[in-house]
Amino acid sequence: MHKNGWTQEKIKEAKELMKTYSGKTTGEKLSTAERKITKNAVLGVLYRQKIKEGYTPPADSPFAIKKPNYPRRRLKICPECKGIGYIKLSFEGEENIKSCDVCKSSGEVY
Ligand SMILES: [Zn+2]
Repeated sequence: MHKNGWTQEKIKEAKELMKTYSGKTTGEKLSTAERKITKNAVLGVLYRQKIKEGYTPPADSPFAIKKPNYPRRRLKICPECKGIGYIKLSFEGEENIKSCDVCKSSGEVY
């Protein structure tokens, strides 16, 4: 008995069934009273088998996706408030402070 229940015979059988049926149906056909085999289990075991046989997944395969290196966005000092996050307004001799809408008061913009 194979430790995870997948014998070479069973993998072969799954492969054959997959030619005719969907992963879901194949799983149902291979399921036993003791062990239910899901579509993902079928696809997973067949995929691992393919890898074992030397298959290399294509670069665009969801199994081979590498995280892209996003260029880091540089923050710039807000040109509106000069990086302080607020704007001083002089009105009739009174000085008022207004939050900067350009950078949302963070003092930095992208
Ligand atoms: Zn600003």
